[in-house]
This record gives sequence, C-alpha cells and structure tokens, in this order.
Amino acid sequence: MDDVLTKDLATNDVPTRTPVTLASGLVLEGVRHSYGATQAAAGIDLAIEPGEIVCLLGPSGCGKTTLLRLIAGIERPSAGRILLDRQVVAGPGAFVPPEKRHIGLVFQDYALFPHLTNLANVAFGLKALSKAEALAEARRALERMRLGRYADDYPHALSGGEQQRVALARALVTRPAILLMDEPFSGLDSRLRGSVRDATLAAVRDAGATCVIVTHDPEEAMLMGDRIALMRAGRIVQLGTPEALYRHPCDLPAARFFCELNEVGGRVAGGRIATPLGSFAAPGLAEGTRAVAAIRPQGIEMRAPGSGIAGRVLEHRFLGELDMYEVAVEGIDRPLIVRRRGPAGLDAGHEVGVHVDVADVLVFAAAGP
Ligand code: ATP
Repeated sequence: MDDVLTKDLATNDVPTRTPVTLASGLVLEGVRHSYGATQAAAGIDLAIEPGEIVCLLGPSGCGKTTLLRLIAGIERPSAGRILLDRQVVAGPGAFVPPEKRHIGLVFQDYALFPHLTNLANVAFGLKALSKAEALAEARRALERMRLGRYADDYPHALSGGEQQRVALARALVTRPAILLMDEPFSGLDSRLRGSVRDATLAAVRDAGATCVIVTHDPEEAMLMGDRIALMRAGRIVQLGTPEALYRHPCDLPAARFFCELNEVGGRVAGGRIATPLGSFAAPGLAEGTRAVAAIRPQGIEMRAPGSGIAGRVLEHRFLGELDMYEVAVEGIDRPLIVRRRGPAGLDAGHEVGVHVDVADVLVFAAAGP
C-alpha cells in the first residue's frame, strides 16, 4: 500500500479523493470473441488473484491484445463471462462499460496528450477531485516515478523511457483495481528497456495493483509475471509460474517458445527414446510412439575427444558471456547448437566428446503420424 493511500485511510479523507481501490480479482469463464471468421478468443478460462501480475505471452496474432480489450470492456465477448471482484462486468445480459470498470491502461505508444504538460497528462483521469487536489495527486505520482522535475514540460521533450513512466504514473494515479499493459516496453531500445521495466515492476508492486501485461517476449514475461498465460490461436495452452513453464512446457511448441532447442527424433522403446546422443526417459509416451528429444543448447557439454559421443566443432562464435558452437555428430542431420563457455582455443575443426545433461532434455511426442 503506498504512502498516499495509507494517509487517506488514516484520515478518513476518502470521499473527497479518488476512490480508494484495493486490488481486484479477475475471472474469465469461457470467454469468446471473433472478428469475422477469426476466433481471437476461443474459450478463455483464467482466474487472477488480487495483486497478482499475470503476463499474456504468445506469438503475434494469438489473441493477447483481444483478451486485454475484452477485460477492459473495449470489446464485448460473444460468449462467456468476465468478473471483476465477483461482479459480472461482461456476460449474457450484463455489460459494464470501460469507464466504470476502474481499470488503468498503458499502451505501447504511451498515448500521452501532446498538448498537455506531463503533470496535466497525469491529472487527466482524476475527474472526481478538485483541480488543485488532482494536480497535487498527479505531482506526487510523478515524483514516485522520479519525474517530478519534468512536471511542467511536455511529453515530446522526454525520452521514450520517461514518457512510458509518465504513462504509468497516469495509469496508477487513479489507483485502478486492475492495471492492463499492452507491450509497454516494446517501443524502447534494449538498453533502456531493462531499467524502465524494473521501475515499472517496482511501481506496480508498490501500488499492489492486479496487473495483466501483454508481451511476446518470453524473457520479459519471466521477469515480470507471477504467472504466465501462454496463448496460441485464441486459447491459453498453459498457465503457471515462469519456472513451471520453462521447466515443464506442455508441448514442443511451448518449449520452443522459451528456448532455442536441438531436436533429435527417435522411437519410444521400454519407456525411453533412443537417439544418437543417448537414450532419454519418455514418461507418459506409449511404446512405439515417434518422439523428439528437445535439448537446450546450454545442456550440452564438450569435453576431450574419447569421452561421450564423438563430435566435431564446425563453428565457434564468441558472444560475450557465452560462446556459441555448432557441432556435427554422426547420425544427426543438423549440427547441434551449444551455448556455454567452452574451453579456451576450441575452434572449428576440433574433435570433442559430447555430453548431454539430462536436466536440459525434454521429451515430447513428435507432431504428425
Ligand atoms: P500481436 O502480438 O501481433 O499484437 P495479438 O496476440 O495481440 O497479436 P490480437 O491483436 O488479439 O493478437 O489479434 C488476434 C487475431 O484477431 C488476429 O488474427 C488478428 O488479425 C485478428 N484481429 C484483431 N483485431 C482485429 C480487428 N479489429 N478486425 C479484424 N481482425 C482483428
């Protein structure tokens, strides 16, 4: 709970101020939405706890933005229900418009008003307060985002990261029940993205807001989300903590989304899949099933030739923290990709002994017959 909110509660000052809102829970039940023949939401079930940060992650066109728009009330579902704090805000015979849902929105392009100062931009949503109170609240919100000195400037004079923080201050100042963010960092260069992301996460945590963030970047989802909802073709295919999704992806495409993989085929026999890189446990797969061992590039180690499986380095690239190697192994069509710090002087043409760490191997049924 932030200092202003604590003060409000302590002084019983609430009626003259922005309504004090504690974080809301959000529930979606069988939510559907189509654009013509395209099913952008094809039956979404999702329950988000108050104060939780959930990232909607998935490839372009999978329906992330549509889901955010449905939660905000910008779109109306064709079936299913949406509940905010157990109140139905969208469903058969019920629809609460966006402005009554007490939701904060942050978009990729910040959507700041260019003709208003940063302070006026932040104060814009505080309609329930007197002008003086709204400006005082807005100033505090800017100061919390360490932008107080820019209050009287206009957005165009700020960097992209600063504009994003103004947009966040504007969204948080109304103390929304739920904060919805659509690709909030994708307009920033990679150097700035990390620091703005950290500041945003700290502000959201500090406000205690329930938050739904759309991103197509798995690393960003893992950094920001308490849980990640992995989406594909209008559905949530997996929901869980970042660690659960990374360690136990539900299928091969989900695994591919989080990590570049070396995929080696084989058939299940005796509960294991035999490959030129060794045999790996294939739990849950029937005998004779065609399967794929998906090996993370950091799970392959190269030792002196004569140990492990014989391989030959085709390429070595220095990438700073890690090295990247391509390694040929007999019986495998494509070179293995290895990402780890290799022994000094290990370059193209060197013979190596390849070892695979089973902790970095995932086994799935192969697609198709
Ligand atoms: P991106 O990461 O590219 O923003 P997304 O996962 O957010 O994609 P949506 O924008 O929700 O995906 O789109 C889901 C599907 O619905 C896509 O096939 C898209 O082309 C379609 N769609 C979205 N908005 C509209 C619209 N206004 N009219 C018609 N089709 C739309």
